Amino acid sequence: METKKADLLSLDLSETEALVASMGEARYRAEQLFVGMHKGVSPAEMTNLGKSFKEKLSELAYFYIPTVERKLVSKIDGTIKYLFLLNDGNCVESVVMKYKHGNTICISSQVGCRMGCAFCASTIGGKVRDLRPSELLGQVIAASLDCGERISNIVMMGIGEPLDNYDNVIKFLRLVGHEKGLNIGYRHISLSTCGIVDKIKKLADEDLAITLSISLHASDDETRSSIMPINKKWSIDELLDACKYYFSKTGRRISFEYTLISGKNDSAEAAKRLARLLNSRLRSRTETMPIHVNLIPVNEVSENDFVRSDKRSVERFAEILNGLGIRATVRRRLGADINASCGQLRRAREAENDK
Ligand code: SAH
Repeated sequence: METKKADLLSLDLSETEALVASMGEARYRAEQLFVGMHKGVSPAEMTNLGKSFKEKLSELAYFYIPTVERKLVSKIDGTIKYLFLLNDGNCVESVVMKYKHGNTICISSQVGCRMGCAFCASTIGGKVRDLRPSELLGQVIAASLDCGERISNIVMMGIGEPLDNYDNVIKFLRLVGHEKGLNIGYRHISLSTCGIVDKIKKLADEDLAITLSISLHASDDETRSSIMPINKKWSIDELLDACKYYFSKTGRRISFEYTLISGKNDSAEAAKRLARLLNSRLRSRTETMPIHVNLIPVNEVSENDFVRSDKRSVERFAEILNGLGIRATVRRRLGADINASCGQLRRAREAENDK
């Protein structure tokens, strides 16, 4: 790994300008570099840059875009799952989903995760490291180049906890929204978090009106703490207060993810409690916060014993929420034949390498 050199794709335009200036080169070269790199062209391949400039640059900085280590394409719906190789040998997963309104990519934010949610495959080996801005952006660029199509929406719901890699994620968001870069609008980006309350509040104060998804998964603290360790640090009440603050600052709708686990959080009582909780905490006569609940039958992971709720319980849960004024839909499962949910491809590769 070329750690001493600057990571070019992590630099914003003004940092690229500073680098170019330090080389004694004209300022407009920075924009040429920035524009080309965000299209996935390495400086070495850029025809608008001279040989001596490229040589000097390669001594100071490197350019790396993740490469496709494995790729699975769903025969059912065209969903593509990538295992991307980073320049230190680690891998992360990204998934491209094709919708009528455009292509959406689900990207990873860390190699592994240290949040410890009991049902999740990504956290089993702990956190290896954070992804750099270039590696977050690189997943979008590499996937778009590989599938030959524009990607118009991003969800940060892959491996890792994005708010546990806060600074790099913020820098990535500014890079990916840059008009000279991929120019993806913040309304087309959502970030999913297990509920790091102080960072949700910090995010609210950035000038980035992205959609926030909260992994709630339970309607009472006891159940939530038993499956999500983060709840021992910040209770559901504190989490919902942070959501209110986020909405007050950004005006953006908040989604709640609720993974349905048989016998754990899928009873009619749990559904009623969830509706009561969201109605009482987030909705009043004076303020009606737009919210939406995504119900996700848990993906079964071989390392734990959680069982997905049956169809009837899932439908009943959704009916109860909708009947009590909480909009809820059951998430359509894309890429079922390629096991498109995150974490498992990377773990399989690690197991192969360990042999
Ligand atoms: N760390 C972030 C984002 C990554 S996880 C977060 O917690 O939100 C993306 C979503 O997948 C989260 O809602 C997470 O709780 C959910 N998830 C994790 N493992 C799952 C599983 N086995 N089945 C269904 N959903 C799962």
